[in-house]
Amino acid sequence: MVRVRIPSPAPLIIAVADMSSLFISSALLPIFGIIFGSFVGVIYHRKMASHIKKEIIKTRSHCDTCYKKLTILELLPIVSYLILRGRCRDCQARIPIQYFFIEILFLIISLNILLLPLDIVEAYMVLVVIGLLVTQAISDFLNKELFTLASVFIAIIGIIQSLTFSSYSSIILSLAGFITGFMSLYLINKIYYLFKLRNGIGEGDFLLFGAILAIHGLEMFGPILLIASCITLGIGYLTHSLQGEMPLGTGLAIAGIVFLLIPL
Ligand SMILES: [Zn+2]
Repeated sequence: MVRVRIPSPAPLIIAVADMSSLFISSALLPIFGIIFGSFVGVIYHRKMASHIKKEIIKTRSHCDTCYKKLTILELLPIVSYLILRGRCRDCQARIPIQYFFIEILFLIISLNILLLPLDIVEAYMVLVVIGLLVTQAISDFLNKELFTLASVFIAIIGIIQSLTFSSYSSIILSLAGFITGFMSLYLINKIYYLFKLRNGIGEGDFLLFGAILAIHGLEMFGPILLIASCITLGIGYLTHSLQGEMPLGTGLAIAGIVFLLIPL
């Protein structure tokens, strides 16, 4: 007698449940990304619009021109901009298009992250790091200012990520990267100071470079510094500030983002 083994349905149900939860968490990533982008847009706007009352732009809940409170529909990222065709519903003032671009940028970044061979938890970590790096890039470009707390967060996520998933770096190379990144720019600045009697590199840049190498590991020291220098010189050339202060932090942040999004 041939015994036919009927597979129990349990593994199948578990597999379907796993698939659907994976699908839900993956589908939520771009939504989370757009909301994150919307938040970065507010920070960008606060940096740009110093003429607007500070309390108004703490949150993006009022029109900058007529100060009318925005409705839920008007607060929806991307969608609201398209529905309202970039204008306030009441006073017809233009809504800054930068909001729209930053939200679209984060949508593209989120979709790009989903294409990477990453665990979904790790994908969220990468999204948060990129959000912090975009904030640093914008802030350094506009105000020559880097947020210490954002760099510290990037470094902490980098170390946790290399401990748990190690897709980008092993824990040893992550820690070595953090120390080397920080110390290299610190020492270059010290030497520069000896000759020129002024700082050549901002203190925020030491920490940001260390934090980026905590993500990517020491082996990315050369490629990131090279790409960052090219981007910074490019910005200096385009903004005619080659002789003045150039945003190295912006170059470092963009280089860090590029190497997060291309699979190595
Ligand atoms: Zn208005």
